[in-house]
Amino acid sequence: MEIERVRRFGECRSFPAGTKIFTTGQVAPGLIVVLSGKVEVSQTDKSGHRKTLVTHSPGHFMGELAQLAGRPSFVDAAADGPVDALIIAPDRLRALFVAEAELGERIMRALIIRRMGLLESGLSGPIIVGRADNGDVLRLQSFLRRNAYPLQLLDPETDTEAKALIERFHVDPGHLPIVLCPGGQMLRNPGEDELARCIGLVGPIDTNRVYDVAVVGAGPAGLATAVYAASEGLSVIVLDCRAFGGQAGASARIENYLGFPTGITGMALMARAYNQAQKFGAEMAIPDQADKLIAPTDISGRFVLQLASDERVTARSVVIASGARYRQLPVSNLHEFEGSSVHYWASPLEAKLCSAQEVALVGAGNSAGQAAVFLASQGAKVSMLIRGTGLADSMSRYLVDRIAGLSNIQLITGAQVSALEGSNGSLSAVRWRLTNGQEVREPMHHLFLFIGAQPNTDWLAGSNIGLDAKGFVLTGEDAGHDRHVLETSQRGVFAIGDVRAKSVKRVAAAVGEGAQVVAALHGYLSARTGETAVMPGTNPPARSQTH
Ligand SMILES: Cc1cc2nc3c(=O)[nH]c(=O)nc-3n(C[C@H](O)[C@H](O)[C@H](O)COP(=O)(O)OP(=O)(O)OC[C@H]3O[C@@H](n4cnc5c(N)ncnc54)[C@H](O)[C@@H]3O)c2cc1C
Repeated sequence: MEIERVRRFGECRSFPAGTKIFTTGQVAPGLIVVLSGKVEVSQTDKSGHRKTLVTHSPGHFMGELAQLAGRPSFVDAAADGPVDALIIAPDRLRALFVAEAELGERIMRALIIRRMGLLESGLSGPIIVGRADNGDVLRLQSFLRRNAYPLQLLDPETDTEAKALIERFHVDPGHLPIVLCPGGQMLRNPGEDELARCIGLVGPIDTNRVYDVAVVGAGPAGLATAVYAASEGLSVIVLDCRAFGGQAGASARIENYLGFPTGITGMALMARAYNQAQKFGAEMAIPDQADKLIAPTDISGRFVLQLASDERVTARSVVIASGARYRQLPVSNLHEFEGSSVHYWASPLEAKLCSAQEVALVGAGNSAGQAAVFLASQGAKVSMLIRGTGLADSMSRYLVDRIAGLSNIQLITGAQVSALEGSNGSLSAVRWRLTNGQEVREPMHHLFLFIGAQPNTDWLAGSNIGLDAKGFVLTGEDAGHDRHVLETSQRGVFAIGDVRAKSVKRVAAAVGEGAQVVAALHGYLSARTGETAVMPGTNPPARSQTH
């Protein structure tokens, strides 16, 4: 019965016995529903042995979130005898989600649960070989985790398979980490961009395509725009230079977002938004960094985004949702410890690194409070350093009360970090100066910084987008005469979320502006083309075209 409902979205194909239907590291043809016969799904483990994970029989379907966006597979599938199957390509799968809401929900849930299984097992995805406490290993792990991408870690100190791989690839142990990609390539201590391209997390941009809207930033503001714009029929591309989720994705627990009375981790909230945007057909280019915004030079009204990868994105309108990044301490050797001992967020990865240890945490705002409570709950002893005399003026009451109730958080007032000690990227002590001039030195291996944010607007240098004195983007009346409230000094370019001057720096505000800007986009695009504005809630055909 359900197979009949999905049949119109797929294409029937027969596979002779033994056919490899898809292989690890290659893009599968789509979601695959077995109609007759059996399909064996297997994986090669860290020692190189093949292991059967599951055998699918008629009525079962194969696929996980990679199939939603046409990304490479994490497993192999082969026909165990002759097989007839229904292949539902990614674009048809998205059409199914929209047309068959109830069935689509069940399939989507299964895809998410399967991805969670892959993430938790630690048995799929690229293999990182290197010491678990090495700064580059942590950097690569954090990048993949923030993108909800499965990975395997082999530590030469504890895993015999790591030693075998080091010998097989003739790697000097001093030059670790290496990464083995599912497609078989070996990378030596890669940058995030190199790794992302090798594993197929990001693909080439179609330079011939003209999008209705290009969104720069996949934090809550950018993802909200993607969900509303794509669901209302606009063609959307979203760029982010690091990972989806932005600052919110780094939050250990968001407790004040409407509808989550027990709180939710920033990563869980943002992963849902990311999958939702893809479900409606928004294209994700992550990691891809916008380096320059070029305004239209002719009546076509097309904007060009020049990317760090040397690629270009062309769009009829642009939404700036590039948010903010954490301020750094004015301490000369800070960079030496970033990524290994100095952290700008407190996720389970950092908590694991410093459980049962004493850590220093600088900051007096809500993000500092959340991080302190989270680290303390994971067993760390937290020395919270603040410049002022108390937390009441800068932190929500519930966090102030929670901190007061935790005996392993010590609040140190009137303190400013004066120096960091350590070597080879490993912190050994933190020194701070008190208002009376006295300098205190404490042995510490980890320092967390939550000292405010500055806007990510460097990439707008050279454009005619108006900024305020601190670099935040001006919108509405501040940007020029007769502007939409979220429109910048350049018509057709909008700014939302933390990057916008005078915005409220909260997840809910960013999401609200992401939704609100879509009505302005419809107004701007229809005024340019002379079409009737598309009303939210309707599903007009996408306006995307090639030139
Ligand atoms: C640790 C922490 C805890 C927080 N907790 C809460 C909370 O509990 N409740 C709450 O309401 N708010 C909280 N906040 C604040 C909230 O996260 C932000 O207000 C919100 O994330 C802003 O969303 P945004 O989309 O505007 O920008 P961001 O979240 O900053 O996202 C911007 C994105 O743009 C990308 N980007 C930047 N420049 C470029 C470029 N040139 N090209 C491509 N991509 C680019 C960045 O990589 C980033 O992913 C917290 C913040 C932090 C850091």
